[in-house]
Amino acid sequence: MSSAWRAELFWVVLLVLALAFLVRLSGNWFFATSVCALIYLFRHLFFINRLLHWLRGGKSGDLPQADGIWEEVFYLVFRVRRRNKRRKKQLLRMLDRFRTATAALPDATVVLGPRNEIDWFNDSASRFLGLRRPDVGQQIANLVRNTRFVTYLSDADAGPTISIPSPIDDTRELEVRVVPYGDEDFRLMVARDVTELKLAERVRSDFIANVSHELRTPITVMRGYIEALCDSDSALPERERMIFRRVEEQTNRMHELIESLLALTRLQSGLQRSTPETIDVAELLDGICQEAEVLFGFNPKLSTAIDAAWGVLGDGNELRSAFSNLVINAMKYTPEEGAVTVTWSGDENGARLEVSDTGPGIAPEHLPRLTERFYRVEVPGVRSRSGSGLGLAIAKHVLNRHDATLQVESVVGKGSRFICCFPGKRLVALPPHEPAASSTGVCAASDEEFVDRDPDCARPAPDSAR
Ligand code: ADP
Repeated sequence: MSSAWRAELFWVVLLVLALAFLVRLSGNWFFATSVCALIYLFRHLFFINRLLHWLRGGKSGDLPQADGIWEEVFYLVFRVRRRNKRRKKQLLRMLDRFRTATAALPDATVVLGPRNEIDWFNDSASRFLGLRRPDVGQQIANLVRNTRFVTYLSDADAGPTISIPSPIDDTRELEVRVVPYGDEDFRLMVARDVTELKLAERVRSDFIANVSHELRTPITVMRGYIEALCDSDSALPERERMIFRRVEEQTNRMHELIESLLALTRLQSGLQRSTPETIDVAELLDGICQEAEVLFGFNPKLSTAIDAAWGVLGDGNELRSAFSNLVINAMKYTPEEGAVTVTWSGDENGARLEVSDTGPGIAPEHLPRLTERFYRVEVPGVRSRSGSGLGLAIAKHVLNRHDATLQVESVVGKGSRFICCFPGKRLVALPPHEPAASSTGVCAASDEEFVDRDPDCARPAPDSAR
């Protein structure tokens, strides 16, 4: 038995003795019992009142005096209150630390409610977005008035980030990302100042563009002279002519490299967007495939399966360069006895171009880096080693500009498949016409030969380069 219960029992025994004494004194049982019960009741009421008073006072430091079972009750309540107080202090300290950390964040951070109303923001949000304390509860779109930002907020498919000018200083560029969190439709908006980064990128691409541009003229002149020297009618001895042929090969390579660099810089700058036209993809692919066959002397075998019903809304020259890069690569890296297949198919939800080959394939570790500029994989035994490593970078940029993606599936020793996925919004249904290209029925590589085949364009394959 606890000491509290013992003390309480002592009280009860005391009252029983008092009861016996009163009965003996008055001879009235009822009177004596009522007096003792009232004393016991008043004692409890007294401590209940003291407890309420103590709880209402809100001070947990001074434990009120009590005895019997009430001493234990007071102590237990005191312990719970002390524990809560400690926890509260701990939480407040954590909150303080969190506030200091978020205030020190160089990026603007804003918590948005389910209706895109501002719930909380840090100091950087005031500096970059001009938010003030009274703006809490306001819709963010009313304060950051930028049409692309408003579309981005409402459109879940608008992409992972957007770049917008700062609402308080349009010389600064912000990269904004909005990510959902929690169960109650809350969203976290992070805005990063990318002005310096964009400037450095612009300086770098301007430098590449200027150097390429300056090199273009002397190389064109050199090509002309070397071509004249290699001319079969020239009086050069055979040995010298052979040397000049090598020089011609290298200058041609340099010329191609410069042209590719200029094309890539143009694409990356995002400038020169022509008005989108309806491109007859079947016709485009037909032309590319015919040129590729002639260029590679009809080896490896090239077959096509093209659905002429769908065209793409975009830039014909850009698409030609992206598609021909894929077809030429397939022909270039596939042995003469191999096969290449080009297919184009779609429906109103999307269309895909697949260029498959039975070439050497690409090891999985290279796949994520294939579309980087100048990234090349040396393929032993491949007949043509020329190449700049810019073809796939150009293809990726062109596809990005057409809201399309590039996926690569490959198995070493079996072949590769390059897939371009166009969304439904970019497609145009074309009136029926003569089939643009015929399928010979030769298949470069069957679906089963590829791992991670991705039947849905919207879903990326695990080993894919985008
Ligand atoms: P390159 O001018 O070197 O072909 P690309 O950017 O077009 O540059 O291709 C980058 C690299 O990707 C190439 O060096 C090659 O190793 C690899 N590659 C591209 N297409 C294929 C393919 N169909 N089969 C095997 N490897 C390929």
